[in-house]
Amino acid sequence: MDRPDTADAADPLAALRSIARDPRSYVQRWREEHPDRKVLGVLPMNFPRELAHAAGVLPVIVPDDQQPVTEGRAFLPEFYCGFTRNLADQAATGRFDLYDGLFVADHCIQLLGATDIVRELEPRAPVFLGQLISSLSDRGAGAKIAEMVATLRAEVEAFAGTEVTDAALAASIRAFNRDRSLIRRLFDARAAGDCAFGPVELQDIVASAQVMDPDEHHALLSAVVAGRAPRTRDDRIRVHLSGHLCHAPRRELLEVIEEAGAVVVDDDLWTGRRYLQTDLDESLPPMTAVAEWYAGRNVALPCPTRVQHDVDWDQWLLAAAERSGAEAVVHLMPKFCEPHMLYYPELRRALEAAGIPQLLIETEHEGIPLESFRTRLEALIERSHRNRPAYA
Ligand code: SF4
Repeated sequence: MDRPDTADAADPLAALRSIARDPRSYVQRWREEHPDRKVLGVLPMNFPRELAHAAGVLPVIVPDDQQPVTEGRAFLPEFYCGFTRNLADQAATGRFDLYDGLFVADHCIQLLGATDIVRELEPRAPVFLGQLISSLSDRGAGAKIAEMVATLRAEVEAFAGTEVTDAALAASIRAFNRDRSLIRRLFDARAAGDCAFGPVELQDIVASAQVMDPDEHHALLSAVVAGRAPRTRDDRIRVHLSGHLCHAPRRELLEVIEEAGAVVVDDDLWTGRRYLQTDLDESLPPMTAVAEWYAGRNVALPCPTRVQHDVDWDQWLLAAAERSGAEAVVHLMPKFCEPHMLYYPELRRALEAAGIPQLLIETEHEGIPLESFRTRLEALIERSHRNRPAYA
């Protein structure tokens, strides 16, 4: 699946968009083309997909499929985030049949709750919980990461029924790096003043990468990039989007931000820069590269689910705003996302001290009060205009 078919080649962005919005069809097609291989669901945000890819498996970061939560309501309380309730619903209604197994490397308590529901409701699919240490300042953290990466490799081998060789792992690392770095080029160009790609297009590009084989995604994205000329950013208020861990914000929300008179110039969203900020070092032995990748991710873009004394999300955010020229920050916080709620006061204080206007939007899994968001965004844009020296 290294080359797009004719229909995909005619409109490669439409092909990526359709995979981002309908991953099931893509996975079904992949299965038909690889009848002897397995599909592994992995939960965000830190599972090294390279390990599974090197075993010939398709590692899919399980997305929120944006279906309303129905039967899943019975399994997790209402005060779990929408993403985890959606996962429970996928398992409760048979939509998890897309995956042959589920691997998790993260710690968020709500994610672990959803994992238990999948284990209970989908006994045919092996579930492996191999948590990577979250306290990254601990003495011995490096050794614990290396140990867990070795365990993940062994579990992936058992799941796939094949060995993960160093050569295959090195090839997978190259494939994911190549794809991530092409996507990152678009994000860096946006931060530097190019608005050739809008926020919904970029979200579709990242969301499709989280599902697809990296070579296939890279082939389509290369065609997209080749066909799109740079476009200089206009005079709208420049906004950084922050937060929304583990799943994509609703597209309508991204659209309303730009309709209200702002231009998104950067982000630290999971379906954005957070996914692609860190590469694996191809000069290292591949297992070391995987371990160092994990150890370095929180430095490259701090995550509220990790603890590291010398790393601060708020400082990263200020530096990012300076790089992109962002004049305002919109925090997109999924309702009941505890890690984000815990860090938000620090982010707020730092931005206040720096004089950067900000707006918190709490997102719900179902039902978006778009007109109320629009009004609040317009007020943010008005405030940001007053910060411009030439405002009259
Ligand atoms: S980090 Fe937030 S969004 Fe992710 S599973 Fe936990 S509560 Fe949900």
